Amino acid sequence: MDVCYITSMTDAQRRRLEQQRAALLARLHALPNLMRGSVYERLRKCGRASCACAQGGPKHLTRQLTVTLGGATRSRYVRLEEMAEVRALIATYEELWAIVNDLTAVNLALLHGRPPGGRQPTRRATP
Ligand SMILES: [Zn+2]
Repeated sequence: MDVCYITSMTDAQRRRLEQQRAALLARLHALPNLMRGSVYERLRKCGRASCACAQGGPKHLTRQLTVTLGGATRSRYVRLEEMAEVRALIATYEELWAIVNDLTAVNLALLHGRPPGGRQPTRRATP
């Protein structure tokens, strides 16, 4: 029964969870710009008949950003000088989800009135 859980949580446990919640919310609010997506590096032929890659020479390393939005998959080549920005945006998105998962665990514990399994909530890379 939930009533038992509420009475089983000590004030110290509740304070610790509330401190975790406050720290997670602070990290959430401090997140910089973000976007969802994946970057793949692929070797491709460039399509120019005169290029060495058309005669079996080395192919070109390309970077492709893929993201599904509203049920449609969008794809775009990423220039080398854009890579750091794109990787940072995607990393922040993953950080967002790690925080969401941690917040969910803390809020669930607070709702139940006890820590989840007696352990600290663990971070997960992706939802
Ligand atoms: Zn080529």
